[in-house]
Amino acid sequence: MIVVMKHNAAEEDVARVTDKLEQMGYGVHLSSGENRTIIGVIGQRREEAAQTLEAMPQVEQVVFITRPFKLAGREFHPDNTVIPIGEDSVGGHELIVMAGPCAIEGEEQLMEAASAVKEAGAQVFRAGAYKPRTSPYSFQGLEQEGLQILEKVRSETGLQIVTEVMDQFTVNEVAECADIIQVGARNMQNYYLLRELGKIRKPVLLKRGLSATIEEWLMAAEYILSGGNYQVILCERGIRTFEPYTRNTLDLSAVPLVKHLSHLPVIVDPSHGTGHAHLVPAMSKAALAAGADGLMIEVHPNPEEALSDGPQSLDPGQFRELIKELKGVALSVGRLM
Ligand code: PEP
Ligand code: MN
Repeated sequence: MIVVMKHNAAEEDVARVTDKLEQMGYGVHLSSGENRTIIGVIGQRREEAAQTLEAMPQVEQVVFITRPFKLAGREFHPDNTVIPIGEDSVGGHELIVMAGPCAIEGEEQLMEAASAVKEAGAQVFRAGAYKPRTSPYSFQGLEQEGLQILEKVRSETGLQIVTEVMDQFTVNEVAECADIIQVGARNMQNYYLLRELGKIRKPVLLKRGLSATIEEWLMAAEYILSGGNYQVILCERGIRTFEPYTRNTLDLSAVPLVKHLSHLPVIVDPSHGTGHAHLVPAMSKAALAAGADGLMIEVHPNPEEALSDGPQSLDPGQFRELIKELKGVALSVGRLM
């Protein structure tokens, strides 16, 4: 349930309610919006507890949250969550662009990719050191060595870094080098990993699982939020359907739907969403038109030679062109890029 405080409630009134909740054995999550404070109550639903709280001074109303995702839901947190990313942010007026190669292949490749995406206007550089590959015979990523190269790119370019973590044992190692920690589609329901990410205080980019429903995706976010890490960015990256002409079916209806259900920022990855570089520009524009807060796009200095996901990667020239076109779309939907 949530306790909605009156407009003019003072800090002492809020403190009185939170003390009471703690005495009753509830967990408390405070959300101070522009107009009023909402107190999220974590624990079993009890009618008599609601009655006690409603009788307290400056309490407007106690609402039972019907959806299974409590902290991720808009009922609990009506305002959009805006997450700072370096000097930029995601979830507010500004749009964020994360771009870079699928995998870190070496220093030269990575530096070239990073300077190209920076010059084109991306704020965040993406590249995987730990790669979840479908085949054990495919390139598996440079792991720790890759993270060291990424660290170098970060200090030389000043770009923010997003990179994937694959298990709960490497969270701290990845968090040392990443500004945003990516959870890949295959790990969306790795609950040990999600719990570990709830303990850190860095933004987490949570990709939608290969066949995950919207509710399963939001419940995965709930694992991270319930650990106390409120910086979760959702990423729609396509889901598995019967259609083989695209790698996945990019579910753009998920964008306005998730933004209706949740206050968390939502970005779109049209590269994994389609699997084909020639489809990326159109789907990027469509994503912004649908209300996405940003994009994650694979860009490789030389896509034909990429060790992973070459066919869906843009080259630097194509990416530069796309960013120019996207600025117009952003403007037309009242966003800044
Ligand atoms: C990736 O971003 O390179 C990746 C592996 O994505 P996904 O988890 O969406 O397949
Ligand atoms: Mn990839």
